[in-house]
Amino acid sequence: MNKEKLIDKACALSRPYAVTDGASFKLKKVDPSDTGPFSDEDKPKAREALAEGIELLAELQDTLYAHDRWSVLLIFQAMDAAGKDGAIKHVMSGVNPQGCQVASFKVPSSEELDHDFLWRCQRHLPERGRIGIFNRSYYEDVLVVKVHPELLDKQKLPDAVRGKGIWDTRYKDIRHFEQYLANNGTIVRKFFLHVSRDEQKKRFLERIEDPAKNWKFSAGDIAERAHWKSYMDAYEDMIQATATKTSPWYVVPADNKWFTRIVVAAAVIDALSSLKLAYPTVTRAQKDALHAARAALEAE
Ligand code: ATP
Ligand code: MG
Repeated sequence: MNKEKLIDKACALSRPYAVTDGASFKLKKVDPSDTGPFSDEDKPKAREALAEGIELLAELQDTLYAHDRWSVLLIFQAMDAAGKDGAIKHVMSGVNPQGCQVASFKVPSSEELDHDFLWRCQRHLPERGRIGIFNRSYYEDVLVVKVHPELLDKQKLPDAVRGKGIWDTRYKDIRHFEQYLANNGTIVRKFFLHVSRDEQKKRFLERIEDPAKNWKFSAGDIAERAHWKSYMDAYEDMIQATATKTSPWYVVPADNKWFTRIVVAAAVIDALSSLKLAYPTVTRAQKDALHAARAALEAE
């Protein structure tokens, strides 16, 4: 398939899952088991399309790198076992590792807690020409921390700034921060991999039963599962408050990993192709220098 056609297909596939204006967003309206235009029998076709998409992504990333002006930040958030790691691994499998960096954000260290909540993430922002991936992010500070407000105690905030309005303040700070990034040439795309509670249970059981997957399971995951409703509320509030045209959230159905991956790849293709990237053009003087270099090499 030609490049333009593939880009059009990627846009058509991913855009239904983009939230560009959070105001009216309702999480209930997104079905985690949705597979868009694909039925179960279409799986091989979807896999083929993903492979084509990954090839195109590699080409676009190469231009991003050579162009060396824009950078792209992809943020992944999800409940445990929703498939963040697999989506990142598959979607980025074709790209040049030199142009891509992944940062994972876990429970903050004491050094990190000694700073504002954006600090640790800012240190991992992608350079120009690169794709940066956040596996979890500053959004944890309006998710896990909102579900467990006692975590705020560890953040050593002065009493005067940790009143009731703290979540709204954080949403606003995040909106401004992402707008600031956009203003400086970093485009941000955010992915919430939306898995159902039943599918999570199935995946946890697989992790317990399959020795090769035991390492992925932690007892703490069950404890968080018990707070499912609070997490869904926190996700919905967060998306409502931080989905914007410049920095959209993609709420990606995640009960079928093959579908999650193809939507994520399509959204990244949409983002990169929107930048109208081009390889740097060579000036007259540079062209003359190239000719001179060739002449010198041939005269050896
Ligand atoms: P895996 O797929 O391997 O389980 P993971 O991203 O869940 O990957 P873990 O080490 O299991 O990695 O979990 C990281 C934990 O850190 C999550 O439970 C997350 O909520 C927590 N965390 C991340 N950021 C913060 C934060 N700012 N404050 C408190 N907890 C945080
Ligand atoms: Mg985990």
